[in-house]
Amino acid sequence: MRRCSYDWSESSVKGHKETEDNLALRPGIMETGMTITGECFCGKVKYQIDGKLHDARSCHCSRCRKAFSAQASAYALVEPRQFKWCAGENLLTSYVGKHGFGLQFCSRCGSTLCGTFDGAVHGITLGCLNDDPEIEIGRHIYVGSRARWEVMPEGVLQFEKGAPEDA
Ligand SMILES: [Zn+2]
Ligand SMILES: [Zn+2]
Repeated sequence: MRRCSYDWSESSVKGHKETEDNLALRPGIMETGMTITGECFCGKVKYQIDGKLHDARSCHCSRCRKAFSAQASAYALVEPRQFKWCAGENLLTSYVGKHGFGLQFCSRCGSTLCGTFDGAVHGITLGCLNDDPEIEIGRHIYVGSRARWEVMPEGVLQFEKGAPEDA
């Protein structure tokens, strides 16, 4: 079975160290006045990001389809220090896999709001954003595993498996 490196499942075989290291090395994350908000479908859970999102990606693997209840994930990384819950944090429910990856949901409406790693918010689901994050999904990965009913748009950067830096 093909798996992406952002594997929320309990059978994940890849660690997350590489991405954490990349985050630490990426310059300029703190030097932005941008504020982005997001919330779940019922509106009880709200968050704010004082900074930019980065590395927006969409993974079409079978696990991400289930984790995101969609044709693919739509996910971007955040700097954990720039993320805060503004309302409804007590309504969050978590699902954490064996290797420390987790997802957090609104227990009232079921929206998946963020991904976590070792308990810290690691990224957000793009679908719950209220604002324009001023980034686009930069790459579509595991397109070779996409659902047969999904038609890929033309012109997007796509990879049969992971992007080279994910492999
Ligand atoms: Zn909700
Ligand atoms: Zn995936």
